[in-house]
Amino acid sequence: MTKSLADKGLTTVFGSNVFNDALMRERLPKETYKALKKTIEDGLPLDPAVADVVAGAMKDWAIERGATHFTHWFQPMTGITAEKHDSFISPTKDGKVILEFSGKELIKGEPDASSFPSGGLRATFEARGYTAWDCTSPAFLKEDEAGITLCVPTAFISYTGEVLDKKTPLLRSMQALSTQAMRVLRLFGNTTSKRVITTVGPEQEYFLIDKKMYDRRKDLILTGRTLFGAKPPKGQELEDHYFGVIKERVSAFMQELNVELWKLGVLAKTQHNEVAPAQHELAPIFSTTNVATDHNQLTMELMKKVAERHGLACLLHEKPFAGVNGSGKHNNWSLSTDDGQNLLDPGHTPHENAQFLTFLLAVIKAVDTYAELLRVSAANPGNDHRLGANEAPPAIISIFLGDQLTDIISQIEKGELTNSKQGGALKIGVTTLPDLPKDNTDRNRTSPFAFTGNKFEFRMVPSSASISGPNFVLNTITAQALAEIAEELEGAADFNAALQEILQRIVKQHSRVIFNGNGYTDEWVGEAERRGLPNIRSTVESVPYLSAEKSVRLFEAHGVLNKAELEARGEIVLETYIKTINIEALTMLYMANRQILPAAVKYATKLAKSINAIKETGIDADISAQGELLTLVSAKMGSLRQNIVALEKASDQAAAMHGDTYEQALFYKNEVFSAMDALRQDADELETLVDAEFWPIPTYADILFNV
Ligand code: ADP
Ligand code: MG
Repeated sequence: MTKSLADKGLTTVFGSNVFNDALMRERLPKETYKALKKTIEDGLPLDPAVADVVAGAMKDWAIERGATHFTHWFQPMTGITAEKHDSFISPTKDGKVILEFSGKELIKGEPDASSFPSGGLRATFEARGYTAWDCTSPAFLKEDEAGITLCVPTAFISYTGEVLDKKTPLLRSMQALSTQAMRVLRLFGNTTSKRVITTVGPEQEYFLIDKKMYDRRKDLILTGRTLFGAKPPKGQELEDHYFGVIKERVSAFMQELNVELWKLGVLAKTQHNEVAPAQHELAPIFSTTNVATDHNQLTMELMKKVAERHGLACLLHEKPFAGVNGSGKHNNWSLSTDDGQNLLDPGHTPHENAQFLTFLLAVIKAVDTYAELLRVSAANPGNDHRLGANEAPPAIISIFLGDQLTDIISQIEKGELTNSKQGGALKIGVTTLPDLPKDNTDRNRTSPFAFTGNKFEFRMVPSSASISGPNFVLNTITAQALAEIAEELEGAADFNAALQEILQRIVKQHSRVIFNGNGYTDEWVGEAERRGLPNIRSTVESVPYLSAEKSVRLFEAHGVLNKAELEARGEIVLETYIKTINIEALTMLYMANRQILPAAVKYATKLAKSINAIKETGIDADISAQGELLTLVSAKMGSLRQNIVALEKASDQAAAMHGDTYEQALFYKNEVFSAMDALRQDADELETLVDAEFWPIPTYADILFNV
């Protein structure tokens, strides 16, 4: 692997499986290329004649590379990607085949997709959906044991037009944000930029464990996390794993993963060991939100695939192990113009500073106004173990700005800006800001939403989920804040005076969301409550906010999602929650009944036999250790059995509930989930008592320190 990479050269490998801009330029007639570029960049409709030519060039390239099939690659509401493969063959009259791929096949597909979650949307309409080519994300080749397949990124929509996927709202939100940001930029005198794009660099955390251990744990196989497991003698307390030397086996995995990602044009850049044992992280260089989302899906898929090739299993679950850190994604997000200006980068001139502060405060206004929506966008059953629960960040949305920016913001609030370096009064659009040191701003790791010099880092995002949700929410809420600012400024007589007044008002109304302290403390929870910030502790409780009136108004105003679609999405989140907890409960019962209790019985029998055997010898030996152990183990077994019965009852009751999905999900959370906790406690205590030889599943120590 390493050798062939050295032979070929990294630059040749990079993007070699992508039908990228360079290839299009090379292989398409000039006119076709120009027309396609116009569609990609300006969002113009695609001419069918152009599509035919593009499809032909794509097919020729794919076939030269050994592809036999093509697929419309889409992102249904399952959160993972879906594909249905069709071969290029088309029969001829003489009993042979030719290879074909038409513009029509490129543009539109009809995967019989009636079994994807639709949240009830389709039940009343048609059962069919179609996929439509998203030409803003390049087509690529997937190589694996099954062969080579041409993948065309697509959006997935029902026949009556309802959105059924993760890509469509993201694309629409990017458009909405661009429209509103351009309004503001024009007011600042920008006449050259054509679009504003949102950029994202998602840092992906994951666990890597030995596949042999994984295969022996039904919970990992069926639910992605361990449902049992006592605290190991060593956890993450020595902090010796974070940024530690990467073991050779892991290194080999990372190297192969990088090459696979580079081939697909994914800008895999940074890798390191994370806080928990067996935990790692991969960060790409940022790209447009749409491409970054596609690439993150590919990254997660390839992590799993490549791990298997190395006898490893990759865990993307948010909390695979109790007692050590879980995984998340840090969604680094910014806005930039098509001609390369990062709008969240403080500038050097008074004019640039005013523009920077406007965009910065627009995001602050957006996040405070729609904190609930951001919270829902980060909700999934796995993240319930982290946000506001066993592990930070808390479930409260707040923004970290750093001392210097906070100082500037509070000066805006007071009405006058005093440049801390130069002294004297500073007016928006008239005087420069002091240089803001970038490094200074990144050190608060407890904030769920931190400004890091020239971008925001949303740190609540679940490790296993698509990043589409958090980003279409971020884009849309920011679009709304910018729209309101533009509205006022467009009617203003004195631009600078109006801007100063607007920014001052935003600070007054929304600075409650700014918090630079330690977000992991109990004091913050109390303080946040006094400030009136929402603290939504669980997925189930977050769902109603998705289709609340305020949210519907927002998403409909920007043409991102309508009421029915929002309600359907909420329904899907709840259904997924119910199914997830149900599978976890049943898996626990399976393991408790068939593995854990039998092991305890065996051990208790062994102890009893030992006691009897010694007694039979007639020798007056000390059997108090065995006796004590037998009493302990028997008591725990009794309690375990009771808790098995309790969980069976709770999960039967939950499964039998009909009608209100919200009530059912709440029951799973309150009753089933707590019954699972109680059962786990008994089992974990038994693990510490029972002879290791009898224990039927690998322990945390076996799993976490074995790669
Ligand atoms: P830090 O050390 O502050 O976390 P890095 O430069 O290591 O910052 O970047 C972390 C992640 O943020 C990377 O994925 C990077 O590509 C991404 N990133 C950097 N600049 C931007 C930007 N303007 N927009 C979106 N993501 C960005
Ligand atoms: Mg970072």
